[in-house]
Parts: sequence; C-alpha cells; structure tokens
Amino acid sequence: MEQKLFVYNTLTRKKEEFKPLNEGHVGMYVCGPTVYSDVHIGNCRTFISFDLIYRYLLHLGYKVRYVRNITDAGHLEGDSDEGEDKVSKKAKIAQLEPMEIVQKYTVDFHKVMETFNTLPPSIEPTATGHIIEQIELVKDILDKGYAYEVNGSVYFDVEKYNQSKDYGILNGRKLEDMLNNTRSLGGQAEKHGKLDFALWIKAKPEHLMQWPSPWGMGFPGWHLECSAMSNKYLGHQFDIHGGGIDLMPTHHTNEIAQNVACCGKNPASYWLHTNMLTMNGQKMSKSLGNSFLPHELFAGDHPLLKKGYSPMTVRFFFMQASYRSTVDFSNEAIEAAEIFYKKLAESAKKLASLQQNELTTVDEETNKAINDICDDCYNSMNDNFNSPKTLDALNNLSKWINSYAAATRNSGEITAETFERMKKTYNDFFYDVLGLKQDDNENADTNDLMNLIIKLRNEAKLNKDYATSDKIREGLKNIGFQLNDSKQGTTDWVRI
Ligand SMILES: [Zn+2]
Repeated sequence: MEQKLFVYNTLTRKKEEFKPLNEGHVGMYVCGPTVYSDVHIGNCRTFISFDLIYRYLLHLGYKVRYVRNITDAGHLEGDSDEGEDKVSKKAKIAQLEPMEIVQKYTVDFHKVMETFNTLPPSIEPTATGHIIEQIELVKDILDKGYAYEVNGSVYFDVEKYNQSKDYGILNGRKLEDMLNNTRSLGGQAEKHGKLDFALWIKAKPEHLMQWPSPWGMGFPGWHLECSAMSNKYLGHQFDIHGGGIDLMPTHHTNEIAQNVACCGKNPASYWLHTNMLTMNGQKMSKSLGNSFLPHELFAGDHPLLKKGYSPMTVRFFFMQASYRSTVDFSNEAIEAAEIFYKKLAESAKKLASLQQNELTTVDEETNKAINDICDDCYNSMNDNFNSPKTLDALNNLSKWINSYAAATRNSGEITAETFERMKKTYNDFFYDVLGLKQDDNENADTNDLMNLIIKLRNEAKLNKDYATSDKIREGLKNIGFQLNDSKQGTTDWVRI
C-alpha cells in the first residue's frame, strides 16, 4: 500500500501503523445489532463510523472481508447473565414468533442502513444460524479447563483464566479491581466467581428459543456468538475488531477470553471502538425522553427537534467528529452541519461538467496549494480516520472548484495533472470514502407531485381534518416517502 495508515488500538492504548496479517487483505469483524427493537440513532452512528473505515480501506485498495453479525438469540436484558432474552421477551409481549420479531427488525435495520448509504457487510451471520459452532466452542473451552458446568449451564472461569492469562487486557484493569467493583448479583449462586460469565445457559421449559446440547436444552451466552462467528469466517486471528465503546468492558473482554481459552490467541490485532452520541450534553436514553429513532430524526417528529434532517445531513454531522469522540446532538449543531453539507454537495455537483481552460503559465504556488490539499485528504484519513479534518480539506478544495466553475479564477493556471487530481480527489472522498451522496437527486415530476400532496395535506390540517392528514402521511410512508414536519408546517420530504 502506498499510504501509511495509523489506527488507535484500544488494546495497546496507542496509535499504531496498520499492518494487516496478509498483505493486501483485511479481515474486519464488527458487533452488529440485537434485532428486538428499532435501531437507535446512537447505534447508527457506530455502524456509519465502521462504514467509513470499511470504505477507506476499500479505497486504499485492500480486499476486505467485513463481517457484521445479527444477534437474534442469547442477548439477555442484563449484562451479567440475568433477565430475559431480549428477542424472546418482545415476542411474548407481541404474541409473535421470535423469528417474526427478528425478521421485522432485521429488515428495518437494513432499510435504515441503506438510507444512510452504508455498504452492506460481506457476511452477516446470525447467532441462531451458528448454534453448532457455539456448542463446539463451549466443548473446546471446557476441554481446555477454563469453564465448568453446573446444572445444565456452562460458565467461563475468569479467575482460573487470569492465573495464566490477562483477563483485563482490553480495558487495562487488574482483575482485583474488577472484582472489587462488581456487585454480587442475585440468582448467580451457580457461578464460582463474581466475574464468571455464561457460555451456555440452561433453558426453562417456557423459554422460547432453546436447542439441545451435551448439557441439556439451553441457549448460548451472548458473548459466545461473536467468538464462534469470527473464528468461522475470519479465522483464529484477523485484523480489526470493532464495536461501540459500551461493548468494550464486558462483551469484548469476554470475547477475547473465550478466544484465548480455546485457540490461544487474541482474535484481533486492532480493537477499534466508537464513542457515544449525546443530546444537549446528556446521555441519550429512553427514560430521559431524549433519544429518538432515525425516522423521527428525518421527519422532525420529536419534541426536541426543530425540524427534520435528511439522512445525508445526519451522516455528514457524524463525520464532523472523529469516531472516537463523543458527538453531542443539538439542533444548532445539526443545522450547521446541514449548511456545510449542502455547500460541499454543491461543489461535488459541479465536478461532472467542470472543464479546464487552456493552460496558461502555471502558477506554481496555486499548483502546490491544491496538491497539498489533496494530500491532506489522505493524511487526515490515514491519521486514524480523522474525518473532521478530511471535511476541512474538502472544504478547502471546494473553494478552488467553485472559483474555477464560476470562472472567477482561470483554471488554466494549474497543470492538467493537478486539475484532474483535484476533481478525482474531491469526487473520491465525497462520494466513495465519506459515503455521501446528493440529497436532491429526484426528478422534477416527483418534486412537483410531492409539493402538491404536501399542499393538500397542509390544507387538511388547517381544516382540522386530521384523519385525512394522517392518512396522507401514512400512505406516503408506506411507499417510501417521509414528510418533514416543522413548526411552520410541512415543507420538506425525504425518501426512506
Ligand atoms: Zn459481539
């Protein structure tokens, strides 16, 4: 690879040069969603961040196998093996089959990801599709002496593991500290140690999803699936393992322990974690009423939102921060992002028809300045995917593009090579690397029709005919159009 890429590795707590195990190839595993409810906007940020990473690796010419799982069983409500299985619980409440829940929310998740213009992973394995592999893994860990069976459940023996290995390797903490900070939990009497976690859980007869195993009917512990599926599709060792920072202390720590116990190796060379999304400085949570779903954000359908924002504006907004920083959501911040995005998108539109004037005398200074900005696009992404700096570089490049397009400067002042490089770099980074696209790629007929429908709906609302107004809104939603309501009424719409 021509470019030297540096990534921040949670495992070593420093930025390191990225060197894949097999030259030219990258294996990347990212923990996917648990499909029991609508995907949260904070989770969207995580997947959009890894989409940026995936896209840049592809842009650099790597052949990437990107595995992102779907958790459709085994994820309990509590982090410490307590509570009900999230999918089963939802199925019981809705009186549906667990697989109906899984199907619905998997389809919804894919739709949302597509709306944000994220590329699909190379493989998207499911936990229920890999029960055999998970049982084999449990047997292996038992054989190696790092797990024990109690009454049909199998637990990982953390303290025994830590005698010869380092359980706290990922978060850099000592086992004693972790033990001191762990509550003793009720209903955990079967476990030998406070930090032990379930590999296989005995199912009560009424549990909806259960499978036969050497230890009786049961289901896998949540952490197990990622070890089993990354082993299967990426081998015992691969390059990048990613996920949200909230997964690091428990899920990823346990995943490493499982892999080291069965295969003797930490599965990934680089562990990458995305940070959280906050709302006006506060953690987003359902109980605080300050979290919203992607479609609410697009439609402006939430008390905290002034108006709706297009998926590309949201994607752009996320890119304005490094994936490792917290992003604070506010109407002001996203409105600023909207203006900035539209400005850069406008310059991207001009590229297709931008022709260079006949060469005059080359202005060396300008020629160098433009080449330096093109280098900045790469340098910023090579510095741990620093997308805010990449946006700054694109902004600088857009000034040149705009002045050449408007002929306020003569594009003959730079070499043909530089002119083509400027166009290609802008195009590559705006569309391929940052994964942005034009918002308004609709034809004029659709716009006219939508404006007419919006007008009729606004009239219905004025006449307090809310039944018709709701019918129009729902009808449009069913065929993929989302209206953006604001305090001034509805003026805008997006495709969903
Ligand atoms: Zn995982």
